[in-house]
Amino acid sequence: MTTTHNLGFPRIGAQRELKKALESYWSGQIDAGQLEKAGQELRAHHWQQQQAAGLDLIPVGDFSWYDHILDMSAMLGAVPERFQWSGERVDLDTYFRMARGRAPSGEPAAAGEMTKWFDTNYHYIVPEFRPEQEFQLSCSKLFDEVTEALALGYRVKPVLPGPLTYLWLGKSRQGGFEKLELLDALIPAYSEILLRLRDLGVEWVQIDEPILSLDLPQAWRSAFESAYNRLQVPGLKRLLATYFGPLQENLTLACRLPVDGLHVDAVRAAEEVDQLLSWLPSYKVLSVGIVDGRNIWRSDLDHALQRLAVLKEKLGERLWLAPSCSLLHVPVDLAQESGLDDEIKSWLAFASQKIEEIVTLRQALDEEPETVADRLASARSAVATRRSSSRIHSRTVKARTATVTGAMAQRGSSYQTRAPKQRSWLRLPLFPTTTIGSFPQTAEIRQARRDLKQGRICEADYRQRMQQEIALAVEKQEQLGLDVLVHGEPERNDMVEYFGELLDGFAFSRYGWVQSYGSRCVKPPIIYGDVSRPEPMTVAWITYAQSLTDKPMKGMLTGPATILNWSFVRDDQPRSETCLQIALALRDEVLDLERAGIRVIQIDEAAMREGLPLRKGDWECYFDWAVGAFRIAASGVADETQIHTHMCYSEFNDIIKSVAKMDADVITIETSRSDMELLQAFEDFEYPNEIGPGVYDIHSPNIPTVEQIVSLLQKAAGLIPAERLWVNPDCGLKTRAWPEVEEALEKMVTAAQLLRSSGKGGKA
Ligand code: GLN
Ligand code: ZN
Repeated sequence: MTTTHNLGFPRIGAQRELKKALESYWSGQIDAGQLEKAGQELRAHHWQQQQAAGLDLIPVGDFSWYDHILDMSAMLGAVPERFQWSGERVDLDTYFRMARGRAPSGEPAAAGEMTKWFDTNYHYIVPEFRPEQEFQLSCSKLFDEVTEALALGYRVKPVLPGPLTYLWLGKSRQGGFEKLELLDALIPAYSEILLRLRDLGVEWVQIDEPILSLDLPQAWRSAFESAYNRLQVPGLKRLLATYFGPLQENLTLACRLPVDGLHVDAVRAAEEVDQLLSWLPSYKVLSVGIVDGRNIWRSDLDHALQRLAVLKEKLGERLWLAPSCSLLHVPVDLAQESGLDDEIKSWLAFASQKIEEIVTLRQALDEEPETVADRLASARSAVATRRSSSRIHSRTVKARTATVTGAMAQRGSSYQTRAPKQRSWLRLPLFPTTTIGSFPQTAEIRQARRDLKQGRICEADYRQRMQQEIALAVEKQEQLGLDVLVHGEPERNDMVEYFGELLDGFAFSRYGWVQSYGSRCVKPPIIYGDVSRPEPMTVAWITYAQSLTDKPMKGMLTGPATILNWSFVRDDQPRSETCLQIALALRDEVLDLERAGIRVIQIDEAAMREGLPLRKGDWECYFDWAVGAFRIAASGVADETQIHTHMCYSEFNDIIKSVAKMDADVITIETSRSDMELLQAFEDFEYPNEIGPGVYDIHSPNIPTVEQIVSLLQKAAGLIPAERLWVNPDCGLKTRAWPEVEEALEKMVTAAQLLRSSGKGGKA
């Protein structure tokens, strides 16, 4: 018989029960006991569901109050000093203070840093290590949950991040030591964890080492072998799980490690499976991640079966089936999506449906395919309609992308020629001031949107309400003395969803939430078909805003790579193709804005970095098409029209050259949090166009002082000629309240004025 299992189930709950429980606990509405109970119910429900679907091994330890890497830090007692931890047991509130800086009890302290989990939109809490870091078991959560699941009668398979991946993801606050040196201290703690799991009666444990699909330094690769040699616990079998990409040069290493089984991502590394067969020792299990854990499309079961039949032949009982990675990255259950039409729904599979697919595949392999003939037939017809449906394939769109020329990705002239033309009509002062786009999304704005959706107000009322907001934003910006204004984006719930709703080819789920970090979830749009723009999306709002002022009004769009990277993207054509379709739709919008007299246009690429492949060798190809798409969107305009873009990351050095290739006239970026350190990137590489380095951190409620802003700008002026500097906050202001926004912008404008009067920012 083939064994089926799951690498992890979404923990947030089909109705975001975990989010609600957590937020109630943090705000003091429920106590720790009630929170504990909510978690227990969710876990029990998820186990029960997976068991009922027919899975053989049920994952335990995939549940987390906040993040599974933070769980590991808690279990190992890797608690930074500032949390003043007693050193015994990491209790719930210490855990939450590490996650978010505060908890119902205990002193607040700076929260752990959060960063993206591989190439997903999930964020983990970065472990922090000291040189003398010790690891000792300090939290029994995993063991308690295993006990809990065993008591309920499940055949459990605990999952935990492996020691190398855990170390790799961490950082050392004090420099001067290589974190890999901590491995010796870490292995005994891991051994103890494994021993305890064995003593609980566990047969298989899943140890996740996704870093095996990254470019690893040789020292790390070598460390794998010795670490796993030392991690032997008689009587406990270990499944080493890799995912998110091909193993490439780490393939033989992964096959050789002294463990009992290997899980591989057979979706993203489909072409490696053959090689694995020849390298995998004959005593090891091969778990084939055959169902895509990163996307929401229903599997082509016939195709999967063809592949699996060959493997079954060779591996027999050693073949296991699973999703490619944890299902953390997809929504929970399609069954509750009553709002999606039946056809689109028939193309999708969320976590619960993916588990069913795994079980169906097993049945078709082990038993007579007839037993699951219905399920196979329905999957087959979904695949067939996706291939041919006119809702997916538009001749017009395909014909248009086929005729895209290189010239369409080129502005008429170089920046050197464009800049003086733009200056002559814009007539901006030195250190021009602007903002990134959004102004506070007040409760009233959100209420108006709900009222519209639920039919309490009509379109016209809504438009009027939003126009009032725009007028207010324009008035405030004029009072503040900003130079290039924005309309404030009140009509946008979200910078991607707004455009997705107005473009053809997008669908929206009602409950398709995916955890982003802690209790925060996102509901990515679903790009199912060819993308086109039935009509202008922003022109009416922006021209209305322009009609209220003589200052230049900046049109505001979300860029193609960002729309792509924050959506679930169709898998039946290359991502680059979908990106190009979005770019063409945006190009039309840009040109419509220009025709309507809007001659400063910002195309946000907040998520350009999000799409970076895990392997550096694949970066160039990504940038080729992602930057290419931006340029297609931006390049139709006249020299006089000024194109802005905005990005918000703290890491720039490695992508600065590609960012320059976007050839935007102005780029606004996040720099304030790093004290302009980020601009170091501009020391080695002379960025050719204009830059607005964010002068204050909008993520914090603190109001910057004029002196702080002046000093940041002087630093910037040391690296970038003052003629090419802009002055702006480091991101949009939608999460802030008006009083703080006004106060902060007032300081910002004053700082710019001071620098102007002192001449080119030399001294203030
Ligand atoms: N224009 C957007 C805003 O101001 C940009 C948001 C972002 O960079 N994430 O809200
Ligand atoms: Zn931003």
